[in-house]
Amino acid sequence: MVALGPGAPKISQSSMTNVVAMHEGRKRVGDRARALLASPDGCALFIDIDGTLLGVAPTPDEVCVPAGLVSLLEDVWRGLGGAAAVLTGRRIADADRLFSPLSFIASGVHGTELRGEPSAPILTLAPPIPASVVQAMNNISSLAAGILVEQKGCGVAVHYRNAPLARQALESEVAAIIAASSYDLVLREGRKVLEAVPRGYSKGTALLRLAAEPPFRGRRPIMIGDDVGDESAFQAAEGLGGVGLRVAGEHFRPEASDFGGVADVRAWLEALAEALAPHKAAAIG
Ligand SMILES: [Mg+2]
Repeated sequence: MVALGPGAPKISQSSMTNVVAMHEGRKRVGDRARALLASPDGCALFIDIDGTLLGVAPTPDEVCVPAGLVSLLEDVWRGLGGAAAVLTGRRIADADRLFSPLSFIASGVHGTELRGEPSAPILTLAPPIPASVVQAMNNISSLAAGILVEQKGCGVAVHYRNAPLARQALESEVAAIIAASSYDLVLREGRKVLEAVPRGYSKGTALLRLAAEPPFRGRRPIMIGDDVGDESAFQAAEGLGGVGLRVAGEHFRPEASDFGGVADVRAWLEALAEALAPHKAAAIG
């Protein structure tokens, strides 16, 4: 049972059903995440996409956006007075395509793209990755069938989900390409993906930048993610007195996670939207 403190918002019957389901083992949501539902006022949400909001697919373009997820995210966003942002390794335009017609405050390509308001232009914070690096990455795609190279503006990614045995060779090749480039790049590893991105940018730098401005400023940041690229944002949120919530998967073991998987994040978001609902009218104005 969620402990409700004095003055905490009332949780509706459907929200309570979600919470009960979490406790009965049909869903797995950890104590830290459940405790946040008792007093969501004053929180700001930062959330990853792949492996957190959406299940992982063979290729980035094949992910499935479940029915009702977009309207649920809109409810959460409104309930938090607009203090919700997506932090993703994808390009922001790609996230917009997934969640159309909704546009979020967002950071893309590991902190190199930023949009501080849903309707504002997307800022590119780093120079585009040199064509020579993209070409070199394309050349190593011939190492094995199934390797996919994705040019992402300020970064370039090599996906090997469909060629898992090529991982070691790809790591060596990507490291060599980064070392040979005069552009200051770093290697970021993700779920069956290796990315070359500019040094000095991360989801953590994006969170800190967003958290310093309205509507996030003064709120307690909650970061939810599933991968090594989310670690910097967990650190940033925790450094601001917030919390980093881990989703189990290929990076975090279930026993070290706050959510068992994507379905549990969804159930928690539904409970959060319900808990925030009494404030919706005031938030919308
Ligand atoms: Mg992820």
